[in-house]
Amino acid sequence: MNVNAILDKAIEGRRITFDEAVTLYRHAPLDALGHVAHRLRLRKTHPHVVTYLVDRNINYTNVCITNCQFCAFYRPPGHPEAYVRSFEDIGRRVEELRAWGGTRILMQGGHHPHLPLSWYVDLLTYLSDRYPDIEIDAFSPSEIDHIARLEGMSTRAVLERLIDAGLRGLPGGGAEILDDEIRSRISPKKQRTAGWLQVMREAQELGLATSATMVIGFGEEVEHRIRHLQRLRDLQDESLKRHGNGFTAFIPWTAQISEANSLGRSRFRHRYGADHAEYLRLVAVSRIFLDNFRHIQASWPTQGEAIARRALYFGADDFGSTMLEENVVSAASAYTAFKPRMSVEDIRRHIRMAGFTPAQRDTRYTIVSKESDASRTVVSGNR
Ligand code: SF4
Repeated sequence: MNVNAILDKAIEGRRITFDEAVTLYRHAPLDALGHVAHRLRLRKTHPHVVTYLVDRNINYTNVCITNCQFCAFYRPPGHPEAYVRSFEDIGRRVEELRAWGGTRILMQGGHHPHLPLSWYVDLLTYLSDRYPDIEIDAFSPSEIDHIARLEGMSTRAVLERLIDAGLRGLPGGGAEILDDEIRSRISPKKQRTAGWLQVMREAQELGLATSATMVIGFGEEVEHRIRHLQRLRDLQDESLKRHGNGFTAFIPWTAQISEANSLGRSRFRHRYGADHAEYLRLVAVSRIFLDNFRHIQASWPTQGEAIARRALYFGADDFGSTMLEENVVSAASAYTAFKPRMSVEDIRRHIRMAGFTPAQRDTRYTIVSKESDASRTVVSGNR
């Protein structure tokens, strides 16, 4: 099938195949991809509204023994810059978020070799007792896998203990590229594809809010990227059919390659990273291929605000979150190293500049508050 026929098929609401997605990714003109993706997004979510979340990222530790090649955030045990935050320190950060009108924390950390499951349970209990109004989304499938291995438990049993202590969502971090050929090269000590998917499957069965992520720019081929999307689409089909609780959203971004990480120091550095056009192509193909996902998030932290606004015309319907602090991609010189937070008013302004009505949402994309449509203004040239 040629590019036009595949795009027509997508517009008609028919599911495209793996091979067709590869053809689109390789050969479709970027503007045509964006046009079709945007039409599909307008059908699937409120056409005038772009959502955002007021939240805070909190990294509870930077100690990690997994040494991913792309990571500039972690420090090995005993390193002078290694830290584990106290519960009181984390609590203070939650209080600052509350003062901002935030609704969620996203807590992630390295694979610490000595923190037992009881430490995580105590942390969640401490936070959920004190801040019952704040949603706690925390850890990632690879952290769950790490804790389970340390404790000699199943990942499901770990999730159950954490849910009992107040966990409400499992973010989709650590997916990078869900293909073992790539994972064994860039993160050989990290959980493999099947493990990531299995923890997500369990989290969804147990009722947690989950998101799916993807990071491109590790020298992977188009086929690796589409295989990643195929695996997400398959799990989404399975979960929606079995119990109705699938991924809330898909969140793609680009690898940050710099002198601060091993990939950036390698002699093959020129093979890594992805430019803005490549990012927009990914957003658009994702919207077309992931026909069972409702929400796609633009990434201002890795792309900057202008490209994030453009992504709203390539299939994205959500502007992401305020974050308040970002330490992981910033460590590798992402946009957030220079602009570590976005104020609520900044986010609303960017959404209005792109021609949409801003609406604050919670983790599950329920609208918390919305401006009136009348306040929408389109500023030409800023898309
Ligand atoms: S990406 Fe996560 S698991 Fe990998 S080294 Fe960094 S902190 Fe550790």
